[in-house]
Amino acid sequence: MLQYLEFMKVRSPLVKLENRYFESTPKVVPADQETVITIRPLFDHCRFSDEKQYEVSYFPCEEFARRSGWPDQRSRTLKPIDGILQVPQYFESEQEHVLIVEEISGDQRKMVGDFRVYSAREDLFCRRPYKGDMHIHSSYSDGRESPGYVASACRRIGFDFMALTDHGRYAPSVESQRVFEGVDLDLRIFRGEEVHPPSNPVHMINFGGSFSVNDLFSDSDAYYTEVKKIEDALGELPPGVDRYQYASCCFCFDKIREGGGLGIFCHPYWFTSHRYSPSGAITSHLFEQQPFDAYELIGGYHRSEVDSNTLQVARYHEERACGREIPIVGVSDAHGCERGELFGWYYTILFAPTSDLPDLIAGVKDLYSVAVEALPGETPRAYGPFRFVKYALFLMREVMPQHDELCAEEGRRMLQHLAGDASAAHALATLSGRTDALLERYYGADT
Ligand SMILES: [Zn+2]
Ligand SMILES: [Zn+2]
Repeated sequence: MLQYLEFMKVRSPLVKLENRYFESTPKVVPADQETVITIRPLFDHCRFSDEKQYEVSYFPCEEFARRSGWPDQRSRTLKPIDGILQVPQYFESEQEHVLIVEEISGDQRKMVGDFRVYSAREDLFCRRPYKGDMHIHSSYSDGRESPGYVASACRRIGFDFMALTDHGRYAPSVESQRVFEGVDLDLRIFRGEEVHPPSNPVHMINFGGSFSVNDLFSDSDAYYTEVKKIEDALGELPPGVDRYQYASCCFCFDKIREGGGLGIFCHPYWFTSHRYSPSGAITSHLFEQQPFDAYELIGGYHRSEVDSNTLQVARYHEERACGREIPIVGVSDAHGCERGELFGWYYTILFAPTSDLPDLIAGVKDLYSVAVEALPGETPRAYGPFRFVKYALFLMREVMPQHDELCAEEGRRMLQHLAGDASAAHALATLSGRTDALLERYYGADT
């Protein structure tokens, strides 16, 4: 078993050569102030020579007000000090910046690298990016692997948080936490379930709630009595909206919030039995009233089902154009981590002060999130508010690949722990804290 685990195929993130050979920090800086960027070669083959000069050319990607500090001179020549290049620069507004470094000897110039920096305004700068999946299945419903396996596989592909959300079942998510009890993990494993009320086609996710909403349906008298109360208070509904179904959704989202969870409206353009489910009438009413906390902007569809995600994105833009603020998530809805499909294709990046559950939930509710589509062999795409799409594109290129490599090692150790390797828990303890430390270096918080 262990041997098999050792040989398992692991996605290898593409780290840019500049980020492989050098550590340039910070990568994210406060907007509208000067910061010194330190470029430190990590290996012999890329050392800076004290004999040579280096020319640094600076380009703010969007160039808002031309207050760059080198107004008429994009380039300047710098000398390394103790093998390190220090580049002071005023980073204006919220945007990406390019620093091109070239080695000058005589009249020869040689490209050293293209280093990137992002300047963020205070509300964004004080947050960190967290990446995860909030909708995923195990073998306890119709997925393939055990809850602990799914959690480990999530870390292996670079997630900071996850929740298992089996159909109608909350207990598997509790198990995904229990199997790692006493083990020092950096992956945040939360509870969850996919909520399926009786005779209601709307699928909902309970992310992080402290109790099972599905369990409430087993006392059907109490459930129907409460839903009837909601129905009675509804007033007139648009044509085609089933009173019971809509009231049942309100009941579920209220209960999810009562448990401190995030209530997610799932895959409204899922094509099944020759039609979209749920109906257009109830989908429209849900958007109008927003009893949910977040919308699955990108959901777990196969390549042949791309229409469904296209419609979900188009619907989002349409609703936004009507002035609605819609918190969003991206989810894989994967039913197996080793099938080569869905798992890791779609996820959420959200911006929050910490990865504690209330902070993650507030991050989504306060609209600090993007939904990511990362199909194999393609450059990842982010969807959501323009400001965060722009930032996420930078992070997915300059920060996440290094972060994901650290996670991959932890994910493999988690699988070894599950497979009975007694040394894995100790190894995980020694790896603990590395992803946070990486981010702190990248945000200049360690200096
Ligand atoms: Zn579903
Ligand atoms: Zn599902």
